[in-house]
Amino acid sequence: MDGFGRSLTGEPAAARVPVLLPYPFAGPFDYKVPPGMHPRPGDLVLVPLNRRAEVGVVWDGPGDGTLADSRLKPVTALLDAPPMRADLRQLIDWIAAYTLAPPGDVLAMALRVNALRPDAPATGWRRAEPLPDTRITPPRQKVLDALVAGEVRGGGDLAKTAGVSTAVIRGMADAGLLLPAVIQAAPPFLLPDPEHPGPVLSEAQAEAATALREAVAAQAFSVTLLDGVTGSGKTEVYHEAIAECLRRGRQALILLPEIALSSQWLERFTQRFGVAPAAWHSDLPSRLRRITWRAVAAGEAPVVVGARSALFLPFPDLGLVVIDEEHETAFKQEEGVVYHARDMAIVRARLCRAPAVLVSATPSLETTANVEAGRYRRLHLPDRHGGALLPEIALVDLRDTPPERGQFLAPPLIAAIDATFARGEQAMLFLNRRGYAPLTLCRACGHRMQCPNCTAWLVEHRARRLLQCHHCGHAEPIPPVCPVCAAQHSLTAVGPGIERITEEAAACFPAARTLVMASDTLPGPAAAAEAARAIAAREVDLIIGTQIVAKGWHFPHLTLVGVVDADLGLAGGDLRAAERTVQLLHQVSGRAGRAEAPGRVLLQTFSPEHPVMQALLAGDLPRFMADEAAQRRPGNWPPFGRLAALIVSADSPEAADACSRDLARAAPHGDGILVLGPAPAPLAILRGRHRRRLLLKTRREIAVQPLLRAWLAQVVAKGSVRIDVDVDPMSFL
Ligand code: ADP
Ligand code: ZN
Repeated sequence: MDGFGRSLTGEPAAARVPVLLPYPFAGPFDYKVPPGMHPRPGDLVLVPLNRRAEVGVVWDGPGDGTLADSRLKPVTALLDAPPMRADLRQLIDWIAAYTLAPPGDVLAMALRVNALRPDAPATGWRRAEPLPDTRITPPRQKVLDALVAGEVRGGGDLAKTAGVSTAVIRGMADAGLLLPAVIQAAPPFLLPDPEHPGPVLSEAQAEAATALREAVAAQAFSVTLLDGVTGSGKTEVYHEAIAECLRRGRQALILLPEIALSSQWLERFTQRFGVAPAAWHSDLPSRLRRITWRAVAAGEAPVVVGARSALFLPFPDLGLVVIDEEHETAFKQEEGVVYHARDMAIVRARLCRAPAVLVSATPSLETTANVEAGRYRRLHLPDRHGGALLPEIALVDLRDTPPERGQFLAPPLIAAIDATFARGEQAMLFLNRRGYAPLTLCRACGHRMQCPNCTAWLVEHRARRLLQCHHCGHAEPIPPVCPVCAAQHSLTAVGPGIERITEEAAACFPAARTLVMASDTLPGPAAAAEAARAIAAREVDLIIGTQIVAKGWHFPHLTLVGVVDADLGLAGGDLRAAERTVQLLHQVSGRAGRAEAPGRVLLQTFSPEHPVMQALLAGDLPRFMADEAAQRRPGNWPPFGRLAALIVSADSPEAADACSRDLARAAPHGDGILVLGPAPAPLAILRGRHRRRLLLKTRREIAVQPLLRAWLAQVVAKGSVRIDVDVDPMSFL
């Protein structure tokens, strides 16, 4: 606002307002306020943009001021919708500033639900009073009997209760016996009952629960790490924090890394609180999305469990944020606005003055460092619940006891699985690789089947007779002859994926009932829930899966976990390769022996002496993490320094190189600032685009954002060139 035209009350007469639109603009645009309209920050408005009417949000601050009042277009309409609250606007600004994403792109994530579109109210029927003078057949009488005076019921529902066809209902409507009426919607989310009886907590659990309850009662921002081995009752403990939040009538948000796998989580929540919470994820049907969004905005969804996008829901009274499995890299969104949902959830908690609780059996080094620096508080559960022991971990040295030629399961693992089945228990084989084989090679000429769009081998999916790229989705039929030398029967699968392991297991254990769990065999929550049910009901002997089997499951009869390739995650130059491998293998190990029978884990490895294997063997993760920290600290690697990546991509290698060179010339420098690269990205070509990477590393006290802004301002991305920014990169591909 220009400072002129203050009214006598001191209120600015708001001649113009800034409006943020859900598009990649650098900030809000000013619009003229028509007489009689009083938009306030947060209000949803309709404004003209390129001759279309767009929904935007009245933003804070003075606006861009670039255009004179006389040249501004007027706001078209003030929408009748709940305004976006200040804390959510601040979150959007904060994320945009931190990630360097255009604020409009961040806003788009909060507006993605078309919550403004009204749903037609559901209609049903009520009895006409008095009834018109017309013939009442026995079926019609049944319908009238099924309706209490004044009651409204849907047609299908009514026909079913009365045991008549819907044609009878229609006939009665035509005869004036039934009148149309609006069905009053029941509140979509029932109130979870905090006093519904939960388990009796152990002493350590009760102590942690009390601390969390106090954090909720304080109604102030705090961050607590709840850590404890797999099966120590962390979920039961944070349920108590949710209960306290409910008692105070406030809302709780629980973020899970992969909501598709949440069936067991939802079951346990329902056991504890009597009703299911509201769920928020990308598979939600659009009508339910709108209902959920509105219920959250109205404060009528007391508990929401969701994937990272739930962070942008319009909670009016958020009293608790829980981030379960906080170490999971799935919380990092890599496409569009590149942000880490764990970190932004903490920001949201701070803006709402609510406590955040990070939960993990294998906390990330970032979180551990924050605990050590005194920024986060730590609550620790030392033991598995009910005296269940942690599984015994052993290594299978593939150099000493190799599998048979062309096979991948070594004799000690096969023997252990046989013994498990003989005891009537379940076993699991874990390999974090979908498909049949990661590489197809011609034995005659050495040609390797490669993706035409990416620097990547094509993965064979034998069941679907396809070669597929796991980066861009390209798929082609398996060729009958080598495409280069035309040799017949020369294409050979190299290395295993879980399809191949499934084939091998079928030959080794012909009597075993096998279930494959991978993202492509279990699409969506319903399939995952059914798999979990079948396992719990002992309809399955052997589970073969990718990383989705590692997460959170509680299978009481599963006592053996075999890791087919424990070395898999260690290849490549990723800063966190060792940390992630330890976390993943610890998680998957944690699936074994969660009830009375003790669990056992066998890790097949070519490098038993590797610190990762030794740490898992000794069960001493804190020590391993301390060693990791000691290695990262001197070079200012995260979490002891800051990182940001620039990814340059273009249609041609020359264009990518030219822009990378420009960036290198303009690179920031100074004490505690280092720029690495440009270098071809490991995925040097992705979806046909040529990629180069630069990495900015600074000491922790130097913020990367101002450096990045100044840096990017000096370089113009011309033509097909795009520069993507990734602050706190988790992936280095
Ligand atoms: P975590 O989240 O640490 O992996 P869970 O909360 O899933 O551990 O607990 C593991 C299993 O032990 C679950 O089946 C849970 O219901 C049970 N459990 C944990 N604590 C208790 C308790 N105090 N009383 C009864 N059962 C418990
Ligand atoms: Zn590809």
